[in-house]
Amino acid sequence: MRILLLGGTGEARELARLLTGEREHEIVSSLAGRVSDPVRPVGEVRIGGFGGVEGLRKWLEDNRTELVVDATHPFAATMTAHAAQATAQLGVPMIRLNRPGWTAEPGDRWYRVPDLAAAASTSTELGDRILLTIGRQGIAAFAGYPRPWYLIRTIDPPEGPLPPRHEILSARGPFTVDEESGLLARHRIGVVVTKDSGGTATTAKLTAARTAGIPVVVVDRPPLPSGVTVAGTVEEVREALSACTTENPAGGSAEDR
Ligand code: NAP
Repeated sequence: MRILLLGGTGEARELARLLTGEREHEIVSSLAGRVSDPVRPVGEVRIGGFGGVEGLRKWLEDNRTELVVDATHPFAATMTAHAAQATAQLGVPMIRLNRPGWTAEPGDRWYRVPDLAAAASTSTELGDRILLTIGRQGIAAFAGYPRPWYLIRTIDPPEGPLPPRHEILSARGPFTVDEESGLLARHRIGVVVTKDSGGTATTAKLTAARTAGIPVVVVDRPPLPSGVTVAGTVEEVREALSACTTENPAGGSAEDR
């Protein structure tokens, strides 16, 4: 099958690694091109936006794509919505790889909030030295808070307006629990803000915060579009793909539909 794999996550790279080289599949990974030095998946890669739903639909048609696997980050809601719309319009199946969110463990002091605006107001009530680990987009939600001091950790420089009192820490994980504990102590962090990204790559900060008794403001995920097939793991995606391949062993092209 000709598969478009929407990426930008570790799971997407893992899927690309497993599927590239499997005779029955042709995979093209897609990256948004936002990070200056992205970790490239194995196999064929295209980089950059498609130009909205319309552009994506055209790309899928031009490339005679038979299935889309959306393995973008749980907070990449626009890309997921566009993929759901374009595939529905063309009748192309789509599988959403949505790794499970995090759940609090004993000792955690978590404050779940629906969005970044709520994260900004809740975190200022909890402390005045705040670590933001929410990526570089969305820092603007904190810009209107002049009192707290923010440590903003991102891979590339943050976008948009920033809060007046801040330091930018440019770093790419994964980090160990010791590194995260050291960071919290060194900067006398009193509150951590994170998105509920799920997965294991970025949990060290949660462990470090738990150990130090520091509250964590956790932003809930945006909802998924309705009617999308959801897989929780790379393995579940592979199972769903085998089911599709068995149903359609001749590998009918988009033109056949
Ligand atoms: P987004 O807000 O959902 O998407 C904005 C636009 O970026 C989309 O409409 C699309 O442009 C383009 N885009 C996004 N992902 C793409 C992909 N894989 N391939 C081609 N174009 C893509 O996405 P985002 O939150 O900016 O995330 C961008 C990328 O970073 C994603 O690949 C995501 O997996 C990764 N990422 C995001 C986060 C996060 O917290 N949001 C964290 C880690 C990694 P067009 O409309 O022009 O097609």
